[in-house]
Amino acid sequence: QIDTTEPRDGSSSMACYDNGFGQNGTEKATLVMLVRNSELREALGSIRMVEDRFNRRFHYPWTFLNDKPFTDDFIKYTSGLASGPAEYAVVPNDNWSIPDHVNKTIMRAEMSRLASAEVIYGGSLSYRHMCRFNSGFFYNQEVMMKYDWYWRVEPGIELYCDINYDPFTFMRENKKVYGFVISMYEFKDTITTLWDRTRQFHLGNGDYNLCHFWSNFEIASLKFYRSEAYSRYFEFLDRTGGFFYERWGDAPVHSIGVGLFAPKNSIHHFADFGYSHAPCSRCPQDDESHTSGRCLCNRNKHFDSESYSCLPRWWKVAGMNKGTKRILFFL
Ligand code: GDP
Ligand code: MN
Repeated sequence: QIDTTEPRDGSSSMACYDNGFGQNGTEKATLVMLVRNSELREALGSIRMVEDRFNRRFHYPWTFLNDKPFTDDFIKYTSGLASGPAEYAVVPNDNWSIPDHVNKTIMRAEMSRLASAEVIYGGSLSYRHMCRFNSGFFYNQEVMMKYDWYWRVEPGIELYCDINYDPFTFMRENKKVYGFVISMYEFKDTITTLWDRTRQFHLGNGDYNLCHFWSNFEIASLKFYRSEAYSRYFEFLDRTGGFFYERWGDAPVHSIGVGLFAPKNSIHHFADFGYSHAPCSRCPQDDESHTSGRCLCNRNKHFDSESYSCLPRWWKVAGMNKGTKRILFFL
């Protein structure tokens, strides 16, 4: 018998318990955060907010991933906030290192070129490891294998609205593969050859308009990434060395992968989520979200209606024809 009057404490990496707000989530799903020990404060802010807005009613497990061992403090404070179990794992070295086929001399030259061109994170090797990891490895980590769904949470994000339903169940029941909140244009200089490489892998036509789903928030299917189609796409991209010679982000890689291999109507825009990850935020525009007290955010501070957003393009194609066509339509 579990005593629900007991306060939460750091020792409760026990199974889900019912705190009286509702029942536990029932999907094979996890809240996943790749994070550095130095980001503890920002991580706690994100966990607090995801718990308050959503997970205190569902108690989904948290999974924390890191290229270095987590410190005792990191584990102590984050598990203290988690209302479900919390699991911590170190990424295997070959998921976070330069593969042998990458020519390091060329890589270094290209990195300094991008750095002096002031391309964002252009000179950062750790950022490249992170993007490659999020493109091709996170979904096959041992601690992830028991799950079918994930919600990616980054340190320092904000959620502005209560999520009173289970988005994982929503995804499953509606046969969704990929859910996003913000979509925007990628910096061309970070992915100079990504589209050409993609076309070598998978015949396609036209140019890439640089639209992608912002991957710091994702609610998506792990089975999708584990599929033969996506895995082979990632392996092909990885062989080209582009994650290191250029600075391919996991966001355009996920987006193009989803565009190539998932039906258009399996992609979902979570328009009911209020979300912020610096420097962008979005806020539900309908009245009810605000009169009901569900959301607290400034409706005028809304990235979806700014010129750098790809949402207008998305609405055009996704709204017009809810077919099962693949969405290179949108990209
Ligand atoms: P940005 O959102 O593109 O500005 O990049 P972030 O710095 O937020 O990195 C994206 C995600 O990867 C965040 O969850 C970071 O905590 C995580 N991350 C980035 N670099 C590293 C790293 O070197 N080690 C670890 N463990 N996590 C990292
Ligand atoms: Mn971030």
